[in-house]
Amino acid sequence: TSFGFKQVRAAERQALVNNVFARVADRYDLMNDLMSGGLHRLWKDDLIAWLAPPKDRPFRLIDVAGGTGDIARRFLNATGPQATAVICDISAEMIEAGRRRFEGTALAGRLSFVQGNAETLPFPDRSFDAYTIAFGIRNVTDRARALREAYRVLRPGGRFLCLEFSEVQAPILDDIYELYSFHVIPRLGEVVAGEREAYQYLVESIARFPDQDTFADEVRAAGFSRVQYRNLTGGIAAIHSGWRL
Ligand code: SAM
Repeated sequence: TSFGFKQVRAAERQALVNNVFARVADRYDLMNDLMSGGLHRLWKDDLIAWLAPPKDRPFRLIDVAGGTGDIARRFLNATGPQATAVICDISAEMIEAGRRRFEGTALAGRLSFVQGNAETLPFPDRSFDAYTIAFGIRNVTDRARALREAYRVLRPGGRFLCLEFSEVQAPILDDIYELYSFHVIPRLGEVVAGEREAYQYLVESIARFPDQDTFADEVRAAGFSRVQYRNLTGGIAAIHSGWRL
């Protein structure tokens, strides 16, 4: 059983995506660890390492599809008191789960949550020094529009970084990965979260996402310069980087 995502219209698709995350929000962090064997933590560390934000001057990050705040937390930990982060996510449930996570922590004062769609970000032009999106762009219906929005809200000289599942580079790893993702992940979703279909969606959306070079071209088409990518764990995931010049 699959959602048959190809057949549904854009608005319906986003509604289905929202439903997936509303249903898994409370178990989201646990499921991430289980399904990636903790790898997502290393990949997120890699993203912040590549961003290399300054420690001693003001720096504004927007983390789109930021969910429960894994990227924002790493960013705030890597920077000083003058750095701030905004988590923008379309799901009220994911934002709520994120808020609970930061409540009463030392980072809370440098972090804000805004509910919004990556395709129509509720921020003025040139508002941020960096834009990050981790495992989020795959869920967006109109990806080209989301990339243009990323460009719009960045200041000239600003940095775009996207972490997303990608095309596995080694054939054997690819076979193992496919078996794992199409058989193990939906089963794990069923057993741990009671949400087989939601995790089935996840796997299908990963399979449909463009490969590294195709996505790099999409990033360029949105206006970004010096677009590059790095493969992580044999291409299971990749980080794309670009600059608004
Ligand atoms: N960035 C977090 C991380 O890496 O753990 C969360 C990733 S989670 C797989 C995807 C997130 O994208 C969900 O929180 C979901 O609500 C959000 N999302 C889906 N469609 C979106 C859209 N159109 N605009 C903004 N956020 C969206």
